[in-house]
Amino acid sequence: MPHTTNFSHIYVEKGAGEYPDTQQICRRFSQAQVVAVDDYKHMFNRPNQRFQAQKRSMKLILAVKKEQFLYPGSGRAPDFGHDAFYYSAQMFNCVYNCDYCYLQGKYASANLVIFVNHEDYIAAADERLAAAGGLYLGVSYDTDLLAFENVLPLCRRWIEFARPRSNLLIEIRTKSANFDAIADLDPIPNAVLAWTLSPAVVSGQYESRTPPLAARLAAAREAVAAGWPVRVCFDPVLRIENWRERYAELIDSTFAALSPSGLFDCYIGSFRMNADYLKRIRCQRQGSDLLHFPYTRQGKTVGYADDQEAEMLAFVGQCLSTYLPADKIIVHRVPPGNNL
Ligand code: SF4
Repeated sequence: MPHTTNFSHIYVEKGAGEYPDTQQICRRFSQAQVVAVDDYKHMFNRPNQRFQAQKRSMKLILAVKKEQFLYPGSGRAPDFGHDAFYYSAQMFNCVYNCDYCYLQGKYASANLVIFVNHEDYIAAADERLAAAGGLYLGVSYDTDLLAFENVLPLCRRWIEFARPRSNLLIEIRTKSANFDAIADLDPIPNAVLAWTLSPAVVSGQYESRTPPLAARLAAAREAVAAGWPVRVCFDPVLRIENWRERYAELIDSTFAALSPSGLFDCYIGSFRMNADYLKRIRCQRQGSDLLHFPYTRQGKTVGYADDQEAEMLAFVGQCLSTYLPADKIIVHRVPPGNNL
């Protein structure tokens, strides 16, 4: 896990101190100064914070979520054909620091927030499951839970929650190489482990602190071998220099490491972001060519122009089709006029 072993400060919201996860985390980072705060929002939402400066020395905030434990999926994220698609956000922010991450525009602060009342998330998922009869739940959106699993075993808990609930499908999306943290669990068919893969030049240049492609592929290969449903995600596909060659190489490397028949499916999406988020991020990151690309705006979403996006997704889809049948290739385009 990158750069998180030495939090200098842990801020504990009033009421969060009595939760076992708070006590365990404070014990683990016993060198950190623990500071009591009334309400995490007072520090997390404070205006005029410097996101990238905070990223260099992230603090940990432990809080109790009071409401909205699950969020309905937005049109910017794929629902994989499920009517009831929700995601939970038990952590705000992420140990990694990708240039294209929308969290830089969504949140005022780069500090990591962990909500320690996991049982309330479980109760909300059960309630939603009962109401909808079936549920597709992304449990690692707006963060990377598996990267943090050695500190707080939330992936493990969600998997154990899903195990007896066959009408629940969870997805754990990650760029980590930390499969070892859950390798002792028996696999289940309704927990998809989804690795986001990028060309080496992208992970080196734009996905700061993430493990390299080879390490992610090795982790995914172990998961396939252990019997887990494994998804690979090429998202966001970026129009980098020589993008065709870079993505063709990436797909060849992927299937040199992973047997196509062992994969659950494969997902492709191109870069897109809420326009207000991008505006905010651009002010803070003047030097990023990726963020200052002349994207096109449709409604409240910015991304590549339609013809560019279609060209990129078609090319990557075509490369994938030499390895996978069409029904295993999921291509996501943001619906036109998406105003979310
Ligand atoms: S891994 Fe995902 S959540 Fe984490 S910084 Fe990168 S894009 Fe953001």
